[in-house]
Amino acid sequence: MTAPALNPPKRILMGPGPSDIHPRVLEAIGKDTVGHLDPFYLETMNEMQNMLRALMKTENPLTFAVSATGSAGMETAIVNSVEPGDNMLVCINGVFGNRMTDVAERAGANVSNIEKPWGEVFSVDDIVQGIEQSNPAVVGIVMAETSTGAFQPIKEIAQAVRDAGALLLVDAVTSLGGMNVEVDNWGIDILYSGSQKCLSCPPGLAPVSFGPRAVEKLNNRKEKVRSWYLDATMLASYWGEERVYHHTAPINMTYALYEALRVIHEEGLENCFKRHLDTHRALKAGLETLRIEYNADPNHQLPMLNAVKIPDGIDDGAVRSSLLNEFGIEIGGGLGAFKGKVWRIGLMGYAAREKNVVLFLSALEELLKRQGYQLEPGAAVAAANSIFQS
Ligand SMILES: *Cc1c(COP(=O)(O)O)cnc(C)c1O
Repeated sequence: MTAPALNPPKRILMGPGPSDIHPRVLEAIGKDTVGHLDPFYLETMNEMQNMLRALMKTENPLTFAVSATGSAGMETAIVNSVEPGDNMLVCINGVFGNRMTDVAERAGANVSNIEKPWGEVFSVDDIVQGIEQSNPAVVGIVMAETSTGAFQPIKEIAQAVRDAGALLLVDAVTSLGGMNVEVDNWGIDILYSGSQKCLSCPPGLAPVSFGPRAVEKLNNRKEKVRSWYLDATMLASYWGEERVYHHTAPINMTYALYEALRVIHEEGLENCFKRHLDTHRALKAGLETLRIEYNADPNHQLPMLNAVKIPDGIDDGAVRSSLLNEFGIEIGGGLGAFKGKVWRIGLMGYAAREKNVVLFLSALEELLKRQGYQLEPGAAVAAANSIFQS
């Protein structure tokens, strides 16, 4: 029995990830596969690691891509920095703090939590108090909460974590490539990300970086890391100079991430972050004319993930399915407590472009109008365009 030929529809991916893939990245993934110890591949790994370090603003030698998605990046970060019985403080203000807690408990950590309502972020005082109460070896926090659209400043809390002698573990899955992330300067000890958000690469790789303090702890563990596949001590021997076989690397995904990083560095980090911010400001101006409000607190809104409240009386499912089926645009619905209440509009990587904002706003206007929503025709697109022009 033969299934039909594969013919995926053309979508504009403006949800919480995956994001639109840059055409050069799709081209790269189709190039010839070589062996995972081929000199060409080893050189490609080195160059890719260098580009990752430059993006993360770190000199950390132990910077590489885990062969799996962002959640495996999370698991890699945790199993390698936590020993069974360690105290870990995890900050929860959305879905991914909860996931981090679950992973840490499975890794044998003795987890404490501090919590904030979804859409709010943690202050330095919150962190200091949490540390005083739980005396953690590791503090885990999400920089860009994709479930709520809230941006957690990291630099300010990093010092407090360091003063307490703990390691700072940061989820940069949605932030990396869309906003400034400074591993060394800020004092992040362990960072992980994912390929399919602002890096605009297909899902399947999770960049991670371990700083000197995390590596020291790793090298002085009393027992082995409780995951064979994600053990950074073994992965370091493959990604480092020894090139000891561990698992067969996903060669063509490495090509994809390599090209995605080239695209970002060619544009320049500052330009790339500014593009994310500009498209966010234009989208926000357009949504304002439609009386659509953001969920996250106004001082902490993410540029690449716009979580907004669905207006009263509007049918969530009807809007999202028409966006997809008539206009080819995917946006995300709410997760967990936000199901049916929030839309998540992604402006990640290659999707963060002027034409997508304008198309989305005009499509949304049409779909709201169909449901009897009061609006001024054309106002949303005009507001967005005036931001782009200024
Ligand atoms: C998407 C995401 C993850 C999980 O990544 P997957 O690639 O879906 O496994 C983790 N943390 C945050 C903040 C995310 O947005």
